[in-house]
Amino acid sequence: MSAPLFPLFADLRNRPVRVVGGGGIAERKVEALLRAGALPRVGAPELSPRLQGWRDQGRIEWQAGEFREDWLDGVWLAIAATDDAAINQRVAAVAEARRLLFNVVDDAELSSFQVPAVVDRGALQIAISSGGAAPMLARHLRKRLEIQLDDAWGDLAALFARQRERIRARFPDLAQRRRFFEQLLAGPLQRLFRQRQQARAEEAFETSLRQTATAPTQGSVTLVGAGPGDPGLITLNALRAMNEADVILHDRLVSDEVLQLSRRDAVRIEVGKSAQGHSVRQEQIHALMLEHARAGKQVVRLKGGDPFVFGRGGEELEFLRAHAIPYEVVPGITAALACAAYAGIPLTHRDHAQSLRLVTAHCKDSQHLLDEGGLDWAALAQERQTLAVYMGVAGLDTVRTRLIQAGRAPQTPFALIENGSRANQRVVTGTLADLPDAARWHQVRSPALLILGEVAALADTLHWFGDAPLHAAPPHSANLPVPKLPQAA
Ligand code: SAH
Repeated sequence: MSAPLFPLFADLRNRPVRVVGGGGIAERKVEALLRAGALPRVGAPELSPRLQGWRDQGRIEWQAGEFREDWLDGVWLAIAATDDAAINQRVAAVAEARRLLFNVVDDAELSSFQVPAVVDRGALQIAISSGGAAPMLARHLRKRLEIQLDDAWGDLAALFARQRERIRARFPDLAQRRRFFEQLLAGPLQRLFRQRQQARAEEAFETSLRQTATAPTQGSVTLVGAGPGDPGLITLNALRAMNEADVILHDRLVSDEVLQLSRRDAVRIEVGKSAQGHSVRQEQIHALMLEHARAGKQVVRLKGGDPFVFGRGGEELEFLRAHAIPYEVVPGITAALACAAYAGIPLTHRDHAQSLRLVTAHCKDSQHLLDEGGLDWAALAQERQTLAVYMGVAGLDTVRTRLIQAGRAPQTPFALIENGSRANQRVVTGTLADLPDAARWHQVRSPALLILGEVAALADTLHWFGDAPLHAAPPHSANLPVPKLPQAA
């Protein structure tokens, strides 16, 4: 077994580095060298347009022609980036004889140094190398780290660099200094950078620099939209929050696949609500958030879809604000958008609709459809608009009757999407007149979303996910035994 490589971060500022080759590969190396403040000297018969541009700006030197030994005079490193194996080998041999470190691009065997895969967060650089043994593995790991480490790390590194002297002066003792950093990192600094609250981050830093005694760490709550179910639809920010969470309070609507992505040792508490009954009341959810945040925990409040679309996110933020608990919000893909996409329904197709309304069939503290008063049926019945009705399965009779009374055509197409974006997704299409019968016939259950408007008919041709749409009840369905509609919505 060969010995592992010696990791090294080189200071190349104002140091000449030879790059042999003038094409695309050389271009990438030169770009990295320029970022590090090096003085690239490029030797090649001709230059790519970008290299030519850097030369015109005086940022690189160019020696025209074929490789010559004297190209390695006065440089600190050499990089062979041509597509000619013989030239690359000559560069390697000459550099070796001169005890110059050299890299042959894409040839780890021939190189005496390698350029690692890098996760770049400003002053903080994470370099990954497999010593040429498994570059794919290194690249894969790099991708994972890219996802996990947000930009706040770069801001933290910059702050620490700026404040280095002051921190040393304040805590001359190494053990003390270490404790200080640990406390600082457990605090709100990183969150504040993520929220682009530079001034408050600086303030938090100043406060901890003044403090001597160990202050209790401050907890926080992140409201996270988990999307409709397909784990591929959560955001990078959601993934990070779930990775950092100590406690996850999740709705029943959040899919198992999404929950699998959260930190293994996080405490998971289901606070699911269904339309039949509140399995955990909203006040209890508030109390749980408060309890854990006050205990210094990073709490993630994970909700189906988007937290601000019929998700009670607003009430939760008001509560947190009133109790001075810091919070963040990560949006998610709401059911209307996901169901439409996964059913092949372009919500505002310009031939058919100019607006989209998100409507709920429930209101606060009510388990019943807002039949009287709450909804403006005349407005909902207008043409050339698409309705996305949440939590509506139990109220479809009312929806049909009211909309037709208010003037919407009985032939208006609908699509009911059950378990949108999940493996068990079902789509039922038909016309408004048949809506409740169709739902009963196919026993559509919660979670299901109703899309009503001309665009809904496009699901029949544009569907791409799962099975083709089912159609409304067969003719004379009134004579057939009709399964009882579940009361769930
Ligand atoms: N905050 C959520 C909505 C919560 S209300 C969001 O933004 O999506 C719950 C209702 O959302 C359900 O009754 C149903 O109408 C709809 N819904 C949520 N997820 C769904 C899914 N995967 N498929 C179909 N409808 C869904």
